[in-house]
Amino acid sequence: MRKTTTTLLLIISFIVSAQHSIDLNYYLPQHITYDENIPRPADIIGHEVGEWHVTHDKLMFYMHTLAEKSNRISIENRGFTFEGRPILLLTITSPENHNNLERIRAEHIALTEKESTSVSIENMPIVVYQGFSVHGNEPSGSNAGLAYAYYLAAAQGPEIDELLNNLVILMDPSFNPDGLQRFAYWANTNRSINLNPDNNEREYHEVWPGGRTNHYWFDVNRDWLPVQLPESRARIETFHKWLPNILTDHHEMGTNATFFFQPGEPTRVHPLTPAMNQELTAEIGSYHAKALDNIGSLYYSEEGYDDYYYGKGSTFPDVNGGIGILFEQASSRGHIQETENGILTFPFTIRNQFTTAKSTVEAAKNMRVKILSYQNEFYRNMRNEASKSRTKSIVFGDNKDAAKAWHLAEILNRHKINFHELTADATIRGKSFKKDHSYVIPMNQKNHRLIKAMFEKRTTFTDSLFYDISAWTFPLAFNVDFVELESMANAGPQITDFKPLTGSVSQQSNYAYLFEWHEFYTPRALNQILSKGLRAKVAKSRFTLDNNTYDYGTIMIPVQNQVLNSNDLHVFLKEVAEDSKIMITGVNTGLSQGIDLGSNDFDPVKKQKVAIVVGSGIRSYDAGEIWHLFDTRYNMKITKIDKEYLNSVDLSSYTDIIMPRSTAKNSNDKTLAKKLNDWVKTGGTLIGYGNMANWFKKHELMNLKIKKDSLVAKEISFGQKSDYRGAQVTGGAIFEAKQDRSHPINFGYKNNKVSLFRNTNIYIEPDKDSYNNPIQYTNKPLQSGYISEENLEMIKGSVPFKVQKLGKGRVVLFTDNTNFRAFWYGTNKFLMNVIFFGKIM
Ligand SMILES: [Zn+2]
Repeated sequence: MRKTTTTLLLIISFIVSAQHSIDLNYYLPQHITYDENIPRPADIIGHEVGEWHVTHDKLMFYMHTLAEKSNRISIENRGFTFEGRPILLLTITSPENHNNLERIRAEHIALTEKESTSVSIENMPIVVYQGFSVHGNEPSGSNAGLAYAYYLAAAQGPEIDELLNNLVILMDPSFNPDGLQRFAYWANTNRSINLNPDNNEREYHEVWPGGRTNHYWFDVNRDWLPVQLPESRARIETFHKWLPNILTDHHEMGTNATFFFQPGEPTRVHPLTPAMNQELTAEIGSYHAKALDNIGSLYYSEEGYDDYYYGKGSTFPDVNGGIGILFEQASSRGHIQETENGILTFPFTIRNQFTTAKSTVEAAKNMRVKILSYQNEFYRNMRNEASKSRTKSIVFGDNKDAAKAWHLAEILNRHKINFHELTADATIRGKSFKKDHSYVIPMNQKNHRLIKAMFEKRTTFTDSLFYDISAWTFPLAFNVDFVELESMANAGPQITDFKPLTGSVSQQSNYAYLFEWHEFYTPRALNQILSKGLRAKVAKSRFTLDNNTYDYGTIMIPVQNQVLNSNDLHVFLKEVAEDSKIMITGVNTGLSQGIDLGSNDFDPVKKQKVAIVVGSGIRSYDAGEIWHLFDTRYNMKITKIDKEYLNSVDLSSYTDIIMPRSTAKNSNDKTLAKKLNDWVKTGGTLIGYGNMANWFKKHELMNLKIKKDSLVAKEISFGQKSDYRGAQVTGGAIFEAKQDRSHPINFGYKNNKVSLFRNTNIYIEPDKDSYNNPIQYTNKPLQSGYISEENLEMIKGSVPFKVQKLGKGRVVLFTDNTNFRAFWYGTNKFLMNVIFFGKIM
């Protein structure tokens, strides 16, 4: 009781002072002294911590200043974000440790290696990686980083000396620089001198897409495993270089909440994570509890959040011998807000983050030997497991698509997983693998569990609720062929120098050039060719020419009557082939077995002008994935048109308009529907994703039969309601569909089956005519992940893709996201097939 009163008094007195002045001392321990030579944040950035939202540039400026002034801190730039912001890392430890840093690192890594018995952990520093505000609009973390870095640089006395002697702290002050900058701009530009806690204030209602995500609107905190984004690439490099014992991830949650620290839900821990990991997490948690008790802050633990998907920052370390810890602070969004728990100020949120950053290193210091021993034992157990693994190797590849296989190998490479060449072309269990399009992963190696986490398929679970996706099986996401083998017989030499792919033109031709559509970057090549004003055609049938077989979707570029002469065309196509890493074949005859090159079964392909609808009401993740795909992978222009002015845009010059999944439950937009309807009728292709199915149906853009569930709760109590409803959510799982490869939607796919990612519950009835169902879920569709029994019944035999004619144009629907999180390389081609071949569907 006394504690509560003190807290209230503290909060009240603080609100009064928050309006006028904020003092760094609010955050810092007061029983110690601070080095006068170390500049305080306000001296450098011009405002007190928590007074304004720190912009990324100011944050970086302060960190550089600290590194310059303090012999406890070194700083390095590990790369740049999409917007060119530096991705900095501070290494913070005692000056003596700094002098021996490389030796300390080497010994730390040795602890995880075979010879580790000879390594003594008695005097070994523990490594703690502290990261802040991976979601840019959860800014208390990065803002706390200012005070925290100051504390580590300036605090004096035996306590801090002991801490820095025993720890190497890797501090990542901003996990998401572009998002942090975007949010700081928003919160600061709306701030009043008289801070206004009214929830209706604009400051607390950020505009679309908000600062949570990075430049292309990706959730950076889902990319620790797929490592497709520059931010994650930098930190994964650091992670594997240091193998930190503890990694913390400071977030924010809803404004009416309090403070959360892990462990999360006990039944929702990934089975590859050892039980001891959770016990240690709980013991570390006792330090957070004590520290938060001391400042009177409410908190909770062991509910709400989980430790399942290894692509999250707080879970990834758990499969790598470390301990990941998630912190979630109730968000003030801007500077001050009314909440169920009274007034919540920005400084209050910062102080909780500061306090738990500090309790983390306190726990690390006290639990040092225990946690280092855990890491040592984790790797010893894993070596044991790896040597006994029945599966000795995994072979994967795609004999028609070197790039997809290469990009999967690239992920392994970033995670320091060893892989080998394939000894020779081989057919294994009915799947044919080409030497230069395939890789072999030995299972007996250091990161054995990480390989399992990437390659396993799992369909049984102890819980039916997931905070994020329940499956991410990489070979399925990449749509590569793969087999698990009980020997290493197919493994050639280990690949130590992982080289980029190349492309070429077989020979100059005066007749025509051909390339199959399977390679990942063929849309990039085709776009380049069409943008040059060259004519190209697509083959609607298969054929054989000069003893080479050409599949559906082969692209043909005739040599005569083009804007380039024969020599210039050859030079240009060589550039295209190199840039897109594909093989282009020059042929000297049009006579083939099957369709000849002059056949009507070759259809002209036109340059496309694509627009995507964005803005409030559109799921920014899905829109960003498409933008990123066009802009970074295929080098294609895409016009982002905001819903706000879409109605006044002249659409006549666009060939394709993409409508990503919407977040709005009941969007009406009658005028828009009419406008799109008119535009499609003149020849446009309208492409919708997910719940656009309902919208298309409602506005008669498409005639769809959408399956309805008949779920009725029986013997489910009120208390069980949310778990019961939650169990019906398909949060992200993988399903098998069969393909009709003669349909243009499937051009570039070599197998008759494909794996699809799904995080919606939209199920479309198949058409009565089978040729209108080019992709259809099988009757045993679940490959990996969680889905309720009811929904599994609904998905069987349903169709994830529909195309219908409307006037001179087409309306296309995908129920599922074919571009998920930039690592679903295997289904990226579907959208490109609609863009380039929509007219012949
Ligand atoms: Zn977050």
